[in-house]
Amino acid sequence: MKEKIITKKILKWYDLNKRSLPWRKQLPLKKKQYYTLVSEFMLQQTQIATVIPFFNRFIKNLPSLRELAKVDEKKLIKLWEGLGYYSRARNLKKTAQIISKNFEGKIPDNYEDLLSLPGIGNYTSSAILAIAFNKPYIPLDGNIERVLKRYLYLKKQSEIVKDNLQQKKRIFGISSRSNDYAQALMELGALICKPINPVCRQCPISNKCKSLQKKDFDLTKNIKKNKEKYFILKVYKKDQRYLLVKNTKFNFLKNLTIFPMEELSKPKNFNENLNFKMSNMNMNIKIQYQKDSCKFQSPFWINKKKLDNYMLPSFTKKIVKYLEKN
Ligand code: SF4
Repeated sequence: MKEKIITKKILKWYDLNKRSLPWRKQLPLKKKQYYTLVSEFMLQQTQIATVIPFFNRFIKNLPSLRELAKVDEKKLIKLWEGLGYYSRARNLKKTAQIISKNFEGKIPDNYEDLLSLPGIGNYTSSAILAIAFNKPYIPLDGNIERVLKRYLYLKKQSEIVKDNLQQKKRIFGISSRSNDYAQALMELGALICKPINPVCRQCPISNKCKSLQKKDFDLTKNIKKNKEKYFILKVYKKDQRYLLVKNTKFNFLKNLTIFPMEELSKPKNFNENLNFKMSNMNMNIKIQYQKDSCKFQSPFWINKKKLDNYMLPSFTKKIVKYLEKN
């Protein structure tokens, strides 16, 4: 199918089927750009349905880039609480500060400047340029990748590596409605070319789809293993309270409040109590109850019955819940 025809078909489908999302509303340009920045940070590791209420609350509290640049850390983290991956929130604030200081408060409209901002990589730059500035970029997210892999029947490891997909996405062509087109492709993957049971009968590009012709919709997994990591998590308990510390040691959950932990490299006979998936690692956690809490210079005691009163990452809350049950 010629690129122009694909583009037209996908946009036509999108116009009739797109979901109404808070960052897709008709907005003055500056607001649109700010909403895109915030939503793209939130969507980096989180699904749309989860992001919506967080986005609405965030925008209600911080309606402009200027306010975001000035927000204090506590309020920022509170607004992000529940979304996880808190480094995104901190990077978003740093980005807003740099834009306020170095770009006269205007979100940059070019790739290089966007890439220089904290928390913005290739994907987010492309998404912002397409959605907020109507530039001809197609950000390759998981949804678009899936459509591409199925449409072209890309199954081998060499075919599904990022570089190859970046080349192959040219099949989608470009549109003068780049902002809609990027979102239309994502929406097609999210609503029609779903990971399981794609709804091919409603797909606007089904007539040339190779996976449909072969009746094989299975996707090859990228061979990229999460790193196995091993931690001792130390539990100090006094009456109803647990001791927590500010995490300045590990790159995950940086500066947030966690249980004291130690990482072990390749332990023998490690019988973990808990497993967590975080970023690109599988955390194997062994709980150790401890007695002497004096060595901590600034411990933070939380009352287990008042968990919601504290600003805690969900990782810490889950550990408390585990301890209470076991
Ligand atoms: S026809 Fe089916 S498998 Fe092919 S792109 Fe459309 S939804 Fe995906």
